[in-house]
Amino acid sequence: MIGSITETKRILDKYNLQAKKKLGQNFLVDGNIIHKIIDQINLSKEDGVVEIGPGIGAMTEILLRQAEKVLCYEIDKDMVEVLSRELTKGNLLIKQEDFLKADLISDLKNFKVNQRIVVVSNLPYYITTPIIFKLLEEETSIEEFYFMVQKEVGLRLTGKPKTKDYNSLSVLISFQAEANLLFEVKRNSFYPVPDVDSVIISLKKTGKDYGVNNRDKFIEFVQNIFAMRRKTIINNLMAKYSFSRKELVDIMSSQGHKETLRAEELSVKEIVELYKAFVF
Ligand code: SAM
Repeated sequence: MIGSITETKRILDKYNLQAKKKLGQNFLVDGNIIHKIIDQINLSKEDGVVEIGPGIGAMTEILLRQAEKVLCYEIDKDMVEVLSRELTKGNLLIKQEDFLKADLISDLKNFKVNQRIVVVSNLPYYITTPIIFKLLEEETSIEEFYFMVQKEVGLRLTGKPKTKDYNSLSVLISFQAEANLLFEVKRNSFYPVPDVDSVIISLKKTGKDYGVNNRDKFIEFVQNIFAMRRKTIINNLMAKYSFSRKELVDIMSSQGHKETLRAEELSVKEIVELYKAFVF
C-alpha cells in the first residue's frame, strides 16, 4: 500500500527523490482519507478515471483496482518513472505532460470505457483554478470532478450567495457546475506537511445554458461587480465602465434591484439577468 508515511518515504528513498515544492508535491499519506475520497466517487468496474498529478500513486493504486481504466497526467518525469515501475500497468495509461497543455479531447478519443469518466485529483495548489476551468470549459464527455484543494480556495469555489465565501469564483463555477464541499482534510495527512488544511470538493457539470453570448465579457462583468467586496454593484461598475450613476440606477431598477445592492446578494441566475440588461 503506497498511501502511508513509511511506504511513501521508502519509495522516495528507493528512487533517491525528494518532494519538489515548486511542483506542489505534498503526497497523501493517510490511507483512511484516500479511501474516503474514492468512496465518494462510487466507482464501478466499467468507469474510467482521469487523474491529474498522481505523484507516486497513492490514489492511483486503488483507482486501478476499482475502475476499468485510469489515465494519468504527471508533469514530473521522476514520478512517471516511479509510477510505471511500482504499479501494475494493465489498465494504466500515464502521460508525462503538463495537464494545462494536454489535448484532453484527443486523448479521450483513445480512452474508451463502457460507463462514465470522472476526474480525480489532489491538485497542485499553484495551478488549481486554471486546471478546474480547463476541465469545465473543454467539451468532453466528463461531467463529474473530485478535487482536493486548499481549504480557503475550496470554500470560495463552493461558496453560496449571501455567505462570506461567495465571490466571482463561486459564480463562475456555478455558472457551469453544481459545486459541493464534501469534507476537510487536515494538513498532517500529507508528506511533507503543507502550511494549510485542505478540503475535498465535487463538481458536477449542469449543462445549463444561460444564453450568455459573450463569455469573456460576462466573466469580466462578474469579476467587476465583485471587485471591491464592500462596495455596491453600482460603485464597482462606475469604477470599471463609463456608465453614469443615473444610467446604472435605471438598469438596476429595471431588474427590480435597489441602488445599494451588493453582488454577494445575487444568485447566478440574477447576475446573468443583470448582465443581459447592459449593452456594453
Ligand atoms: N496525487 C498524489 C497524492 O495525492 O499523493 C500527489 C499530489 S501532489 C499535491 C500534486 C502532483 O501534481 C505532483 O505529483 C506534481 O508533480 C503534479 N503536477 C504538478 N503540476 C502539474 C501539471 N501542470 N500537470 C500535471 N501534473 C502536475
